[in-house]
Amino acid sequence: MTGEILQEIEDLHWNLGLLQNLEVGLVVVDRDSYICMWNGFMENHSGISASKAVNQNLFSLYPELPALWLKKKIEAVLLLNNTAYISWEQRPYLFPFKSNRPITGSAFYMYQNVTLLPLSSPSGQVDHIGILIYDVTDNAISQQKLEDANQQLQSLSRTDGLTGLYNRAYWQECLEKEFDRFARLQETSSVIMFDIDHFKKVNDTYGHQAGDLVIQTIAQTLQQYVRKTDITGRYGGEEYGAILVGTSGANALVFAERLRAAIEATVMPYGEHKLAVTISLGVSEISFAQASALEWLEQADQALYKSKQNGRNRVTLFDNEG
Ligand code: GH3
Ligand code: MG
Ligand code: MG
Repeated sequence: MTGEILQEIEDLHWNLGLLQNLEVGLVVVDRDSYICMWNGFMENHSGISASKAVNQNLFSLYPELPALWLKKKIEAVLLLNNTAYISWEQRPYLFPFKSNRPITGSAFYMYQNVTLLPLSSPSGQVDHIGILIYDVTDNAISQQKLEDANQQLQSLSRTDGLTGLYNRAYWQECLEKEFDRFARLQETSSVIMFDIDHFKKVNDTYGHQAGDLVIQTIAQTLQQYVRKTDITGRYGGEEYGAILVGTSGANALVFAERLRAAIEATVMPYGEHKLAVTISLGVSEISFAQASALEWLEQADQALYKSKQNGRNRVTLFDNEG
């Protein structure tokens, strides 16, 4: 009998030793949130020793804790005798411990997963709760890095490699969004399509690389002239689109004329050569007469075609009367 008790005490002793040195935070509180256990992990990260913490009210010791929320959680665990899990994605941390990672700027606090465990006494009654704190800072950082990488990937997949403008697919998506916005808010907008004149000649005379330089330079000029809210894209080889958000057809026409003149005046040094091109533009204002974003775009394209027919290096505003 005595032997058995001694054995139990011994077991208890090394059990406690294990809990004390676990790389997981362990706090045991009673129904009134008074601390019964505060292990080594908690001592190390909080700087509060077990002898100071035990018999203190958790919320007096840690006024930073989300008391209302945590008390509700604890009540539910006691009532239902069910374990509760709180992940860092819901709440980055419970205890505001400093992260001991080298300063990367990405994690100042220790990210924590928390388990609230109902603890029953030998009589079967649940009147204590074990709070387990897992340091998941490494996971959280790598997940955030992954999300950053995904975002970069997404922005790459929206961008045209040669010019840095939006690519056709994403630009068209934006056009559709703008069209939907118009249906809701009736705020006017205009779209401009333009195409380099006799571009084949540039490629044929100076080579493809010279052609690429021209395509890039025109994209840069376009970017310099638009507003921040305008949406520019490379629609095809040497075709561009610009959505002028909040701009009427008449104002878009003025803008298009300025862009045309700017490009006409641009000289692009290429080796010993000086390249110069012109562009033809078509403008269309959004309207209820258009059934879709595609029709809005087609009107700009028709106007562009007219600019080409009428001699190039000019701007045409689409009008229904033809
Ligand atoms: P137009 O005034 O009627 O527009 O005449 P154009 O010569 O510009 O005619 P078109 O639009 O049919 O020709 C476009 C040319 O652009 C054909 C193609 O070889 C060239 N092109 C398309 N994409 C690229 C590109 O990324 N780089 C280069 N260098 N050329 C391209
Ligand atoms: Mg062309
Ligand atoms: Mg073309």
